[in-house]
Amino acid sequence: MSGATPRPGLRDVPEYVSPQLAVAARLNTNECPFPLPEGFSDDLAASVRALALHRYPDGQTTALREGLAAVSGWTAEGTWVANGSNEVLVQVLQAYAGPGRRAVTFEPTYLLHSRLCWLTHTEVVRLALPEGFRLGEAQVAEAIEAAPDVVFVCSPNNPTGNAQPVGMVRALAEALPQTLVIVDEAYGEFSPGSTALPLLATCPNVAIVRTFSKAFALAGARIGYTLAAPEVVGDLRRVRLPYHVSALTQAAGLTALAHRDDALAILDRIREQRDRIADALAGAPGVTASPSDANFVLFVTPGAPAVWQGLLDRGVLVRDLTALVPDALRVTAGTPEETGLFLQALKEVLAA
Ligand code: PMP
Repeated sequence: MSGATPRPGLRDVPEYVSPQLAVAARLNTNECPFPLPEGFSDDLAASVRALALHRYPDGQTTALREGLAAVSGWTAEGTWVANGSNEVLVQVLQAYAGPGRRAVTFEPTYLLHSRLCWLTHTEVVRLALPEGFRLGEAQVAEAIEAAPDVVFVCSPNNPTGNAQPVGMVRALAEALPQTLVIVDEAYGEFSPGSTALPLLATCPNVAIVRTFSKAFALAGARIGYTLAAPEVVGDLRRVRLPYHVSALTQAAGLTALAHRDDALAILDRIREQRDRIADALAGAPGVTASPSDANFVLFVTPGAPAVWQGLLDRGVLVRDLTALVPDALRVTAGTPEETGLFLQALKEVLAA
């Protein structure tokens, strides 16, 4: 037994894990259910073959940042890439939060936000979203009152699914000019009309964080990015590890950008399955579903843990969110077959 003493409280913190079970329908982590087309794999293989892996990769991720800037309508100097948006978030906290500093979250939201605050020794003020989970003036006022160094807004919000009003993000950014307002748009591609991107031109304290893990169908490659003022990106450069994004990852990101149309073409198919789920849940006995702007649906059902188990027994894995929202489960839009399995299994479980 090791006598080495870890940081106080560390052993009270469980590892962050989502079950990865070999079941017929894995609908618990909001991935894209459709793999990228064969042409993508061929192009990726060719670009990997051309890599000089005995050398360090481009430490500035220049080509990927330039490519992202071009498709986002923002500048390369204001674009930053890391290993998944989770790493972007931790870098942002290392740069803008930390000991003696404070973050605001609007709950329920993505668990990692408060967890990364703990990791970076940042105090968290958890404010509650109102009924319907839509950020309003009262929550903005509470956030201003908390005088935070960073504020997280997740839009569309995980796990509730709704996009947040851009006007509220603007209100936060304008009232708190010395605070970094982080807009987590991991699911932004599913709701392009609600992006906070237009704010960047006038609000230099807004940072938009996005990922290749969802709409880009590339969760396995671990690529995330932020669009922000060049000064913010300059601060992220100060905290990042040398050569933090591998040449393999950069190659995957560039190949994904070259195949962006394939990824965008999949969006409608995913939204179709999401709406199919929402329609079916609307008619399910005792079930209340939250309207979703993302690729998943949150629903409340009596006895949710037993429903979760019943679904799993039928080969369908969804996310148990009862710790965040009473009796809530979250299901990711799958392929038509996976979605069908979920709907059939739910019908059986609710009838049992
Ligand atoms: N933000 C939100 C809101 C998420 O739901 C997720 C993934 N579950 C992430 C960020 C992290 O995504 P990744 O690190 O794969 O880019």
